[in-house]
Amino acid sequence: MSQQRGVANESDSGCGCKVERVAERYELDRIDDALVTGWLGESGERYSLRRLETYLNERVLESAMAETTMTVLDGDVAHLYERLTDGSVSAGQRAETENYLKRAGINVERVRNDFVSHQTVHTHLRNCLGTTRKRTQNTESRVEKADQTVRALQNRMRLVTGGTVERLTRAGAVSIDSFDVYVETTIVCRDCDRSASFSELLERGGCRCRVDTERGGVEELGGETAIRAER
Ligand SMILES: [Zn+2]
Ligand SMILES: [Zn+2]
Repeated sequence: MSQQRGVANESDSGCGCKVERVAERYELDRIDDALVTGWLGESGERYSLRRLETYLNERVLESAMAETTMTVLDGDVAHLYERLTDGSVSAGQRAETENYLKRAGINVERVRNDFVSHQTVHTHLRNCLGTTRKRTQNTESRVEKADQTVRALQNRMRLVTGGTVERLTRAGAVSIDSFDVYVETTIVCRDCDRSASFSELLERGGCRCRVDTERGGVEELGGETAIRAER
């Protein structure tokens, strides 16, 4: 069944990009579904492009390992992938891992070349699969409505507070001549502790810790080190 689908992809709907070539080579049949689901957060959690990159490459490594006589245990793949690719792993440890895989019959160079970058994953999602996290019309009007609701609340809060201060002033309980009331709603991200006003959050479309990673994939091709260092 897996082969049938691979052939069908190649002849009709294939995009021919690296993600697809790799998916065919390693028989990762449902990888597109998995990437889209993770990207859009359809199963609850939205994956960053970095995580999707790791996910895809781990499946590549897993598939290469499955073709050998190695016994693949839970957690092995993630551990070995990290030892192969993580910048913080020493050269010695990396060589050790490579030798371990080579002894098991894996063409490490080839597998490594088949690893896909998060930029490529993003291009595949966006251009080949037409998947985009950009707001649809529906989302756009929903955001607008929410913005109006919160603005109205803030305005009411401002008026009520102003009126209260005025009343207290007249009663002699508070002393102030003329004043302005500012009401701002601040949203603090529990992941990164950054704060944003409600309207900033809407404008940006998310916290910077999420939005930057996503955009980093497209805009700064040289951003590899910066993003890596964040991990
Ligand atoms: Zn593609
Ligand atoms: Zn954040």
